[in-house]
Amino acid sequence: MLVGVLALQGAFIEHEKSLRACGAETRQVRLPGQLKDLDALVIPGGESTTMGKLLIDYQLLEPIKELAQNGMPIFGTCAGLIMLSKDVVGSKQPTLGLMDTSVQRNAFGRQVDSFETAVSIPVLGGKSYPAVFIRAPYIQSVGPGVEVLAAYDEKIVLARQGSLLAAAFHPELTDDLRLHQYFLSLVSTKKF
Ligand code: GLN
Repeated sequence: MLVGVLALQGAFIEHEKSLRACGAETRQVRLPGQLKDLDALVIPGGESTTMGKLLIDYQLLEPIKELAQNGMPIFGTCAGLIMLSKDVVGSKQPTLGLMDTSVQRNAFGRQVDSFETAVSIPVLGGKSYPAVFIRAPYIQSVGPGVEVLAAYDEKIVLARQGSLLAAAFHPELTDDLRLHQYFLSLVSTKKF
């Protein structure tokens, strides 16, 4: 399985490490041609306004949108979750607009810029998940096609809409591979 990792900016190397540890092949994506033959794409954390601008400048926004609309699975984490969302509260920044969600950026308060906490994610089984939040967004509201997979502090932090998976935290910064494995299992079984 070949998984592209959007590598315009942000935490893409860590995602590649996690994906490889799960047995996938990876490819850094910076140019439209590098989207060819991918089984799936990961959009990492970073800075969503910058990432949106770069997606337009590198002519990746429309091709990624089209591939996703044709069924290519995408896993967006943190800024990647923002990029997947149709709506960003109070902002007109460019996004892929694929998930029927409304997100709040930098939503966990200024005093606590980053923190790690145990989050219960029922689809991953019993043990809680060590979620790392860094100036994290959360999903404020979801449309009917969106399945909420986890919440923290009553805020939605993990959701899925068909082949699209979005996490407010950084699964690539922990040794726990279960969320990457979950995404890859969706990709290989096409259960969406
Ligand atoms: N705060 C960033 C944004 O709004 C996201 C932070 C992250 O990806 N770690 O784009």
